[in-house]
Amino acid sequence: MRILIVGGGIAGLTLAAKLRQQGRTPVVIEKAHEYTDIGYGIGLYPLGSCVLHGLGVYDDLVDCGLEVQRYEIADHTGEILQSLDMSVLTNEIGPMYMLSRTALIDLLRKACGDLPIRMGTTVSKVEQTGETVHTTFSDGTQGEFDVVVSCDGIHSDMRKQVFGAGEKFDSEWTCWTWWGSGDLFPPELVREYWGRGWFFGGYPAPDRRMYCAGLPTKVVGDQYAPDDVVHDALTTHLAELIDNDEAVAQALKDAPKLFDWPMYDVRMEHWTQGRVVLCGDSGMAFLPTAGVGASNAMRSAAALADELSRADAQLVPLALELYEKRCYKIVKANQNDSRTAGRMMFVDSAALGWGRDQLLKHVSASAFIGSIIKSMKEPF
Ligand SMILES: Cc1cc2nc3c(=O)[nH]c(=O)nc-3n(C[C@H](O)[C@H](O)[C@H](O)COP(=O)(O)OP(=O)(O)OC[C@H]3O[C@@H](n4cnc5c(N)ncnc54)[C@H](O)[C@@H]3O)c2cc1C
Repeated sequence: MRILIVGGGIAGLTLAAKLRQQGRTPVVIEKAHEYTDIGYGIGLYPLGSCVLHGLGVYDDLVDCGLEVQRYEIADHTGEILQSLDMSVLTNEIGPMYMLSRTALIDLLRKACGDLPIRMGTTVSKVEQTGETVHTTFSDGTQGEFDVVVSCDGIHSDMRKQVFGAGEKFDSEWTCWTWWGSGDLFPPELVREYWGRGWFFGGYPAPDRRMYCAGLPTKVVGDQYAPDDVVHDALTTHLAELIDNDEAVAQALKDAPKLFDWPMYDVRMEHWTQGRVVLCGDSGMAFLPTAGVGASNAMRSAAALADELSRADAQLVPLALELYEKRCYKIVKANQNDSRTAGRMMFVDSAALGWGRDQLLKHVSASAFIGSIIKSMKEPF
């Protein structure tokens, strides 16, 4: 079977590694010229990390990740509203690890073995005739494939070329992330401050911590406002917390270059169009509010590999149909949960923020991600 994977990110590399295990040799192309350390970390639930067992690299995750033990939500003054022992969620299904995106990419590349990745390459034209997908690559070369898998992320060009625009839930907030000192908060603790008109979070990783702060985009004028504008706005809007919490004050003071992260998601009604299929964020991207985008990318890629393992070139359309039937409903339910959590987290008004805080004092955050917890115990 001639398989093209467009995008060597989390879904693409997971799929490539699983196909490699089947003795197949997909062509993998990646837009970036090299893999570099992007300024953010990933919290990986067992929902996605379970795939690493079968790829033989779960021990690498344990080595390069940090197990999250506690999750806390504080209010705009720094008062803790709830403190959740993660074992309540993870005892039966396995631990949640935090690691840098780069470390996750590295271990997935290791799982791909000697499979080459064509770096600095994109698809400039794609056309389906009969049972073949014809592609022209950005370097001018051409290819013919039985199936093309679009794993090129939330901004997917393949999606736009073949499927058109999807539905978008835009919170109209932007977050900014950066790596900072690991010593400002207890290790193994995720702490988020759900402000009124702002957000701040600290997420552990080995030897460092990822910080994330957010504001309604209109406050800084633009999703990609210059760092100094963002920094000034954060310092102004988080002033009360900065006065109350030395760790937050220090993390903001030390913030180096910021990674811009507009808070919207994307949903496609279908993932398959003939022999072109969407996988990962290209088909269903997530708000980060429940921390399951990478997990769903990985488990969807593993499910797609499984369906393709039961097909030959002729049966590709059936395999793709089964993949969509198998994953879509659960992924969509997870995305709905992320949207619900987003509506709770990204609150502008003081009155709504007050009401939300009262609720958080009495209702566990895990209740807002109910279907995510449930989906960890469902076949996928
Ligand atoms: C700051 C931040 C924090 C996050 N935190 C978490 C978290 O804690 N937990 C979690 O589960 N998820 C998290 N996510 C989401 C998670 O990163 C994504 O859901 C996941 O990366 C999706 O995997 P993917 O392979 O679909 O897309 P990506 O990982 O984005 O990979 C897409 C790849 O395709 C390449 N590409 C793009 N366009 C083209 C093209 N035209 N041709 C070829 N290649 C192309 C890109 O360079 C990239 O390598 C976070 C995301 C961000 C931005």
